[in-house]
Amino acid sequence: MSKQYDAIIIGGGSGGLSYAERAASYGVKCLLIEKDKLGGTCVNVGCVPKKVMWNAANIAHMFDDAKGYGFSFGETAFSWKILKEKRDQYISNIVTWYNNSYMPDAGVDVIHGEAKLVDNNTVSVNGETFSAKIIVVSTGGYPLVPEIKGAEHGITSNEFFALEDAPKRIAVVGAGYIAVEIAQLMAAFGTETHLICRGDMVLRSFDEYVTKHLKEVLDNDDQLTLHPKSNVQSVEKNEDGSLTVTTETETIVVDELIWAIGRGYNTHNIGLENTDVKVNADGTITVDKFQETNVPNFYVLGDIMGGQFQLTPVAIAAGRRLADRLHNGMTDRHLEYNKIPSIVFSHPPIGTTGITEKEAIAEYGEDAVRCYTASFTAMYSNFSTKPVKTAMKMVCVGDDEKIVGIHLIGPTVDEMLQGFAVAVKMGARKKDFDDTVALHPTAAEELVTMR
Ligand code: FAD
Ligand code: NDP
Repeated sequence: MSKQYDAIIIGGGSGGLSYAERAASYGVKCLLIEKDKLGGTCVNVGCVPKKVMWNAANIAHMFDDAKGYGFSFGETAFSWKILKEKRDQYISNIVTWYNNSYMPDAGVDVIHGEAKLVDNNTVSVNGETFSAKIIVVSTGGYPLVPEIKGAEHGITSNEFFALEDAPKRIAVVGAGYIAVEIAQLMAAFGTETHLICRGDMVLRSFDEYVTKHLKEVLDNDDQLTLHPKSNVQSVEKNEDGSLTVTTETETIVVDELIWAIGRGYNTHNIGLENTDVKVNADGTITVDKFQETNVPNFYVLGDIMGGQFQLTPVAIAAGRRLADRLHNGMTDRHLEYNKIPSIVFSHPPIGTTGITEKEAIAEYGEDAVRCYTASFTAMYSNFSTKPVKTAMKMVCVGDDEKIVGIHLIGPTVDEMLQGFAVAVKMGARKKDFDDTVALHPTAAEELVTMR
């Protein structure tokens, strides 16, 4: 006989933890199963360690700013080892808190082990079986590695965070968030960095106004070389441990190569074949607006849905809304998968919410779309010995100029976007921004003074 719960959650990452905690707060008897560490990708090998590294890289850039403001200092040094130790401790404290406080205080039972679905309502783990009316799966993804000669000599973002020392030379292959973030932070630490992408430019789905400015920054970075239109053909390990990376046109010798070419989905190894849940060819699972799969009471959250919003706050928001709807009478509560803001932690950061100019034209027609832009060197950066530009674009549609997209690049836009994202989500018009008095002197004020 299998042990009975109200809900079984597979995966203790952003989505699983959030649903479980919220559902348990409504008195639902939950079992959460996690095969690795609670916190999942975000806490252990994603957002959190990445942001710590980004913060450190930002400080490295601030030395140039400080000189411009009249500071002088001798040679500076950076210890990767100290930073890694402190970062690992910080993460370990979060995971301990999940294990010892967050889940127990919420009243969620947690089992550490690999869950396998036995049927639509039954899960086995560590040799025991458990059943529930509600099954929630949020098993996340894993980094992809290409099938080319010598690919195994490269590492992925997972192993990147385990590196004990900063490599002197690094190649990062890919064109998305992860490739840009890792390449730029390593360049900031003084590593010779090669960013290899198969297209003309990285972040190709972003508004071109922003990527044009990013390109300028990449081109001006002495530590970083962008290799556009390059496909890695093979990787060879040399006797001294270095790697020779061969593309169609060149060979590059580095100490580490990082594959950042996208992610696969943890849906092939969790027993879904024993259920009636339909899995798409690419491993994603399609759900309706209530996160429900084709099987009633079988729900999916987070990255394994695929799509453009594979982000921690998205998995969290969907999980909490699902619990509110199922267990707290909020009958229509669900996450709308649009106007979701995100930040690329590049240097400087990129912030985006809503749609690009191209997407707006495709959706509303060229005549209906009006864009406002501003490109300037903010006061703070003006004094730096290595100033960077800030660029802003607002995409509006219709006679009343409803704002459907905001795209930003520049120092501090990561902390600037959240409030503007609220306004866009609420349906703000350009006039609402015009009617808002500016905060002066800030870079953000440009967004309410655009003409
Ligand atoms: P996950 O958090 O991946 O959790 C899935 C969990 O399921 C894992 O713990 C896994 O061990 C477990 N699991 C899998 N199979 C089983 C099984 N059979 N049995 C039991 N447990 C299982 N997002 C942001 O919003 N901001 C960022 O700055 C950001 N940076 C990122 C940086 C990197 C390098 C990466 C890789 C991702 C980043 N993300 C960021 C994305 C974010 O981490 C994910 O969108 C988020 O973690 C997805 O949550 P999830 O619940 O879908 O999956
Ligand atoms: P992405 O899917 O964002 O980008 C991967 C890119 O790599 C593709 O878009 C493609 O770009 C390129 N690519 C694909 N296949 C190959 C190949 N064989 N060779 C070379 N290049 C290839 O994946 P990431 O791994 O960067 O990130 C995964 C997700 O994690 C993101 O989509 C994001 O949702 C989330 N994330 C969020 C962060 C944040 O919020 N700051 C940070 C990190 C991750 P092209 O077609 O242009 O070549």
